[in-house]
Amino acid sequence: MIDQRLKSILEAKGQWNADGVSRKARGRICRRCQRPVMVGLDADLGGMPTACDLTPLTPMGEVAALFNGQPTFSLEWLFDHYEIDFRDSHRILGSPAGSSPKADVLALHRCDTQFNESQTADSKVINPNIEKGATPDECPF
Ligand SMILES: [Zn+2]
Repeated sequence: MIDQRLKSILEAKGQWNADGVSRKARGRICRRCQRPVMVGLDADLGGMPTACDLTPLTPMGEVAALFNGQPTFSLEWLFDHYEIDFRDSHRILGSPAGSSPKADVLALHRCDTQFNESQTADSKVINPNIEKGATPDECPF
């Protein structure tokens, strides 16, 4: 059993939590709707466990998500792992969905919500070969 004081420090730094979700986001299958989601802590300090849809959004898709009460997050590949970051109003205005070549904008996962084609974009960071379990042949360097 982990020491309570150490647990509090690690949780405050966003490096540990009881459900095993860490800053390094990972793909999972939603237990309820069986759709793939990306799960991770949404900030370096005091991050909350977050599950996002794997569908990148366009600016209109992000607006639809926000009107639907779904916060949005950026998903970025950082050297050897994915990270999810909460998009506040400054990030939404300063970097609209689809404008960054290195990040996708994802909505908080809700089992009963799906976005239509005009609200979704092609992914810039998710390698479809990796999602299917295949090993890419190309050298990443
Ligand atoms: Zn679900």
